[in-house]
Amino acid sequence: MASYDAIVLGLGGVGSATLMHVAKRGLRVLGLDRFGIAHDRGSSHGQTRIIRQAYFEHPNYVPLALRSYELWRALEDESDLPLLQQVGLVQIGPPAGEVISGVLRSAAEHDLPVEQLSADEAMRHWPALEVPEDAAAVFESRAGYLRVEACVRAHAAAARSAGAELRTEEAVVGWKVERSGEVTVQTDAGEYRAARLIIAAGAWAPELLADLSIPFEVLRKSVFWYATDLPEFGASELPCFLFELTELDADSRPANQCEFYGFPAIDQLGVKVAEHSGGLVVRDPLRVSRELMPADRARVEAFTTGCLPDLGYRLHAHRVCLYTMSPDRHFIVDRHPQHANVVFAAGLSGHGFKFTPVLGEALADLAIDGTTKLPIEFLGLSRFGRSSS
Ligand SMILES: Cc1cc2nc3c(=O)[nH]c(=O)nc-3n(C[C@H](O)[C@H](O)[C@H](O)COP(=O)(O)OP(=O)(O)OC[C@H]3O[C@@H](n4cnc5c(N)ncnc54)[C@H](O)[C@@H]3O)c2cc1C
Repeated sequence: MASYDAIVLGLGGVGSATLMHVAKRGLRVLGLDRFGIAHDRGSSHGQTRIIRQAYFEHPNYVPLALRSYELWRALEDESDLPLLQQVGLVQIGPPAGEVISGVLRSAAEHDLPVEQLSADEAMRHWPALEVPEDAAAVFESRAGYLRVEACVRAHAAAARSAGAELRTEEAVVGWKVERSGEVTVQTDAGEYRAARLIIAAGAWAPELLADLSIPFEVLRKSVFWYATDLPEFGASELPCFLFELTELDADSRPANQCEFYGFPAIDQLGVKVAEHSGGLVVRDPLRVSRELMPADRARVEAFTTGCLPDLGYRLHAHRVCLYTMSPDRHFIVDRHPQHANVVFAAGLSGHGFKFTPVLGEALADLAIDGTTKLPIEFLGLSRFGRSSS
């Protein structure tokens, strides 16, 4: 049986980055994935991902975001590929809502530059946008987008250059820690042994980490691209955008908060738009429907009609992607409570891609040193009343 210093299970966003970091630290490492590199069956596909620093979800993410920027730039240098485009991000919502107040809190705590605008100012700046009159806007010029598939490929290539072995189209069917402390990983093609196992299985974390009894929820998300020739939707005029909106009930009373986001047209695919809130619960990620569901399209087009009124309805492309939600929508990154040599990142909750390089670095530290200097304590299992090993 082939034996390694470490095995990385899953070579998507997190796993490809982790494989690179582990290999660069000089370990003999194997990476396994049931699909190919940069495939479209998990959570790391669909052209682009937003990257930002003034993190509305919690200020604790900011140092990790800043480290990720450094690591993305280093990966660009190494791969000689443009991966991160700082076209900016405008976030729009109720002044006291989660998004606007969260951005301002993170910006203030970490001294990050953000510009506050009224609804009218935002519409004058970006004629493509229609902003509700009671909404506020914040613009972060350092934000932008990552080319998601190119990022995964670049991490995988850098891992290979650093000596990692990659096996794709090979599904892991189980793993266990032997009495010796070594980990055995069983796949549909064979068995491997390693001193350490790093699990970065995305939507399959619930089954591969079932013994943690964390109630993850996998959600089906639809993404749409609309063709447009209007210059105000191009990347030189429109930044990435995110709207927090209040849905009204049948009696026109405020009901749910919902979030929609999108990207300027960066190529012939056009403007990408999607809903961050909502999503159907997925029981088996291998069998999720990838068909266009009219209800998803109707929600996105109700948003574009209201907030991007000149975009039109020339639907060019559609994709389905998966969010893996943790119970509190924050990532879970830790050592396994029973096995100190098994570490994992799970439940990235639909906002993890920008952090994949720093998560890879942290997982490599945890697997090799048992600890990391990166400030990830807030992402640990202890918040669910469980301690790591
Ligand atoms: C539509 C959409 C939009 C998003 N927008 C943003 C955004 O703007 N900004 C942002 O930062 N984040 C965003 N995210 C979230 C981000 O993309 C994810 O958090 C991130 O990509 C998850 O990476 P991952 O490595 O956990 O999962 P994946 O990239 O899916 O990787 C998991 C890998 O594990 C493999 N695997 C699983 N089980 C097995 C097994 N048994 N055997 C072998 N291999 C296995 C899978 O094949 C897969 O390749 C978005 C997500 C979606 C779906």
